[in-house]
Amino acid sequence: MTPDLMEQGARRLRALTEPNASGKTESGGREAGFARIAQAGEVDIAHGRILYLEGVSVSFDGFKAINNLSLDIAPGELRCIIGPNGAGKTTMMDIITGKTRPNSGTVFFGSTIDLLRYNEFEIAQMGIGRKFQKPTVFEQLSVFENLELALKTNKAVKSALFFKLDSAQSDRLAQVLCTIHLASDARRMAGNLSHGQKQWLEIGMLLMQDPKLLLLDEPVAGMTDEETVRTAELFISLKKHHSLIVVEHDMSFIERISEKVTVLHEGSVLAEGTLAQVQNNEKVIEVYLGR
Ligand code: ADP
Ligand code: MG
Repeated sequence: MTPDLMEQGARRLRALTEPNASGKTESGGREAGFARIAQAGEVDIAHGRILYLEGVSVSFDGFKAINNLSLDIAPGELRCIIGPNGAGKTTMMDIITGKTRPNSGTVFFGSTIDLLRYNEFEIAQMGIGRKFQKPTVFEQLSVFENLELALKTNKAVKSALFFKLDSAQSDRLAQVLCTIHLASDARRMAGNLSHGQKQWLEIGMLLMQDPKLLLLDEPVAGMTDEETVRTAELFISLKKHHSLIVVEHDMSFIERISEKVTVLHEGSVLAEGTLAQVQNNEKVIEVYLGR
């Protein structure tokens, strides 16, 4: 064999056995298709959904935290998830973001990306952003620097030191500052912001990556009434361009933002519909609202 042919053969073998640049192995067919779609920054939403869970279950020490859960989110939708403590809301987000692996079931991003094949980092890179309950901004840095830092996917010190925003990124940063109502606070140290402003900043950091789907776990907990109203406006302004899944207990907030509400109970969907519909549902009143 010529060295050329040997090299070709070795390359083909590597392509089959090693993760490629996007971290996935190529086995042809559907999977190779996923990689192409993810790289192009496009999620296949031809079937009218950005996220699709079916028959998902996960147990912790024999306890079923998620039990045969099925859920469908449309592109641009703002879905509210409510339910009693321990219903599995956070665990559901852990599954979508790759933090927890289910024991069974399917989880698809668009109609072609099987999320169960990817790790947390890859899932975030594909455009699923997650906001945890507690704000985790860099307190010693300014608002501007926090947003700037959110663009750095390569956390190596050297590349962080020499990182410069290009003009598209500068524009995006300015736009995000306005969206999160912090344009006049850009130079303030994040540690000096109010609790609500820190939450917005963290949402802004997610927005810098222009995620297709945003998962927000109890975003208005601890906010003042005014901050809560502003957050509702913020979320309403984000939908359509982004899809959002919002877990919240604050019913006045849900009322402001909700289109479709899903009630989780014991790891599965108890009811789904408009807020009025689920509020009048006997089962929902019994396990959640009535208490
Ligand atoms: P919610 O967010 O709706 O309040 P969670 O998803 O946090 O509910 O929890 C659902 C159930 O699963 C709870 O009973 C919780 O104790 C349990 N649980 C969640 N994560 C774990 C874990 N990593 N190990 C063991 N049990 C867990
Ligand atoms: Mg929770």
